[in-house]
Order: sequence, then structure tokens, then C-alpha cells
Amino acid sequence: MHILILGAGVIGVTTAYELLKAGYKVTVIDRQPKPALETSFGNAGLIAPGHSYAWTTPKLPGDLFKSLFEKKRAFRFKFQWDPTMWYWGAQFLRQCTHKNMEVNTLRKHRLSIYSQKCFHQLVDETQINYYENKKGLIYFFRTQKSFQEGKQKMAILKPLMKNLQLLNKTELFQLEPALNRVQTEIFGGIYCLTDESGSCRDFTLELVKICRGKGASFHFNTTIENIEKLQCNIKKVITDKGDFQADNYVLACASFSPFIAKMVGEYLPIYPVKGYSITLPILDQEKAPDHSGIDEDNLLAFSLLGNKIRFTSVAEISGYDTTNTPSDYKEMVKLVESLFPHAFDFSKAEYWAGLRPMTPNGSPIFGKGKMGNLYFNTGHGHLGWTMCAGSAKITSHLISGQKPELDLEGMTLTAS
Ligand SMILES: Cc1cc2nc3c(=O)[nH]c(=O)nc-3n(C[C@H](O)[C@H](O)[C@H](O)COP(=O)(O)OP(=O)(O)OC[C@H]3O[C@@H](n4cnc5c(N)ncnc54)[C@H](O)[C@@H]3O)c2cc1C
Repeated sequence: MHILILGAGVIGVTTAYELLKAGYKVTVIDRQPKPALETSFGNAGLIAPGHSYAWTTPKLPGDLFKSLFEKKRAFRFKFQWDPTMWYWGAQFLRQCTHKNMEVNTLRKHRLSIYSQKCFHQLVDETQINYYENKKGLIYFFRTQKSFQEGKQKMAILKPLMKNLQLLNKTELFQLEPALNRVQTEIFGGIYCLTDESGSCRDFTLELVKICRGKGASFHFNTTIENIEKLQCNIKKVITDKGDFQADNYVLACASFSPFIAKMVGEYLPIYPVKGYSITLPILDQEKAPDHSGIDEDNLLAFSLLGNKIRFTSVAEISGYDTTNTPSDYKEMVKLVESLFPHAFDFSKAEYWAGLRPMTPNGSPIFGKGKMGNLYFNTGHGHLGWTMCAGSAKITSHLISGQKPELDLEGMTLTAS
């Protein structure tokens, strides 16, 4: 049986690997010249089941409203006329209750934990190098108030993750000595020994090589333009490089999946949430952290990538625009310098912005909709790197007609 995967980001490529393992013939198409050039390119690199919290908290609507007047906020909304954004936004805001936040967090956590297990299995099988850092992740708070809020959120996951550890300031600074030089207040933190980090892009590039070795064929510079149906099945995918036909199709085009789904009359509740990243060479290892982690007050995530470090921040609902200028990073640079002064070379900074493919409840969409041979594996939001291997296995099981190892409640089209 032949499967055509639409999208060669981390999700599409990990799915290709699982399907090859299951014995399928696999073809992958992508509009970019290489794999992982969109969302999977410059993300924060955290594999973080210990931080799989839903973003839709009761506080979020107020934060988004305030961001119309205070531009520096990490969660931001830029007013637009786009009706798709308003339709999606209404569903997203409906999730912002205590109850939904808890349910959505637990669901994301289940998938993240499952996925981390599948990810380790994949890495054992392939021996891929991806700048893995397995020292655990630190999540720290600048004020007593934010620490208190962090502890309240942690209470949701703590019964499931015994290794989430509260740290006072002294304990945190002992664990991460680079913080001793901070030029800002830090109140305390949470440490998760089993969370990790690594380069999503390098992983994806390496996995493409392995998939090619197993017989997969990849077609880059190939843009999907339309889909031809025959009754309730896809007949062919029409691209600017010709038509592609297969028995089954997997949609893994992240924030652009709704445009493809619309070609077969399907609505997918996915909308982009923009984030920014800055990757910096490490100048002084002594002053740089040993752990990857998150400055929680500023949504500032950081991950060690060999002799470089990457910082990401901001969740901006502003449509599909990925443009960015150095001025967008002013606040981030200040925050980085306040945490780890004189540790990095800002003269060689690499700037990037990408779009998190968010669903209202924060979980991806699996399974089928109206088309009998189109499987969704899309909408992984801010945790697609964390969730890639589990999502691939779920999709492979669904295509094979096997029961997925995880309950897909809230992760199918009817539920999102
Ligand atoms: C700032 C930021 C920080 C993040 N940090 C983390 C993190 O720390 N941990 C974590 O787990 N996740 C993180 N994420 C989320 C993660 O990066 C995404 O969930 C993940 O990369 C999504 O993978 P994907 O393969 O679905 O998307 P993509 O990598 O975007 O792949 C989709 C592919 O579809 C292709 N495509 C789209 N339309 C078409 C078309 N018409 N024709 C052909 N091809 C098409 C694109 O070219 C693209 O290559 C972060 C995201 C951002 C933006």
C-alpha cells in the first residue's frame, strides 16, 4: 500500500519513518527546498511532558486584551479582519475555563508522555544525533506571585509526574550555577529531570536520510495546489510539479493544513500563533546554563544546541505573517542578558519567526474526516517536537486498522 505524506516538517517525516517500519511504500511532498524549513526549523527544542500545560487559562483572555495596549506582553493579539481567525478565536476562548484548562492539560500530557516513550525507541533504533540534552529542564519564576501560579499549575501534573520538583532560589541556583550571575530577581523554580531538549531540525534532517535509506521518496519544491476527489476519497493531489496518487494520504502541513483540507470540503480548527527565536553562539561556557528550560514570567524558552543556545519567546495571534526584524527581538535580548550576562555572541545572532499550528484545545487532530483515505496528523501547537513520535505511531496504527495505544478522546476532528 502506498501512502503520500503532505508536509516534510518533523511531523510528516516522523510519520514517514513509522509507516516505512510498518511496511508501507511512502512518498513525501513539501513546497520547501529542504525538510523542516518552516515551524520545525527554529523552535525552542524542548521535549517537555512536564510542561504540557494548556495555554487556554482563565487569565488568557485578559492578557490578550491588555496586549492591544501593551506591546511587550508575551501573549499578544494583533487586531485583524480575518473571519477565520475570529471563528477559531471564539472556539479558543471557550477553552479558557479552569475545568477545560485542566482537561486539556491532562490530554496533552498523556500524548506527550506516550510520545516521549516512542521518541526514545526511535532514537534507540536510529542512533540519531540531535544535540540531545538529558539533564532535565528547569522552569523558573521571577516573582513570588508567578511562582505561586506555577505551583498551582504544577498541582495538575504532580500526581502523574512524581519527578516534578519544587526548588527554592538556593536549590535552583545550586542546580544551575550560571544563574548566580543573574541581574534580575528570581524567586524559585520547578525541575523536571525527565524533560529534555534537542534540535528538532537536525533530528528531522537525519531522519529524512534514514527514511530515504528505507526506500521513501521525497519531493521538495513541490507545492500542493489542489485535490481531486472521487466520491468520498482523494483521487489525486495536484501540485505545481505534477499529480501525485496514493492509496492513503496523511495531512501534516501544520498551520497550512486548513487550506489543504478545504480543498476537499473539510474545516480544520487550526490557526497560527507566531513565535520568535534567536540562536546565539556561546562565548563563555561558564556563564551559559547547563540546562535548557523556561523563564516562565516571559515565556522565554531556551535550549542548548552544541556550542549554541536558542531562546524563543512570544505567542502572537497575528495571522500568517512570519516576517521579523531585529527590533522584534529587543525585549528578548534584554531578558537574555538579564539572565545570563555576557555569555553569548549577539553579533552572530540568527533570527527566526515561525507559526505554531494551534487547535482550540491545544491537542493535535488525528483520524479521518469526510474523506475515506485522508488521515490528519496536524495541529500540534507549541508541542509538536515533543509529540512527534507518538503522533506518528498513532497515525501508523490508524492507517493499519489497529487500535492506537492511546485513547484519542479530544484528538479527532469531532472533538477539537
Ligand atoms: C517559537 C516556537 C517555539 C516552539 N518550541 C517548541 C518546543 O520547545 N517544543 C515543542 O515540542 N514544540 C515547540 N514548538 C512547536 C513545534 O515547532 C511545532 O509544533 C512543530 O514544528 C510542527 O511540526 P509540523 O511538521 O506539523 O510543521 P512544519 O514543520 O511547519 O511542517 C509542515 C510542512 O508543510 C509544508 N507545507 C505547507 N503547505 C504546503 C503546501 N501547500 N504544499 C506543500 N507543502 C506545504 C511546509 O513547507 C512545511 O515544511 C515551537 C514552535 C514555535 C513557533
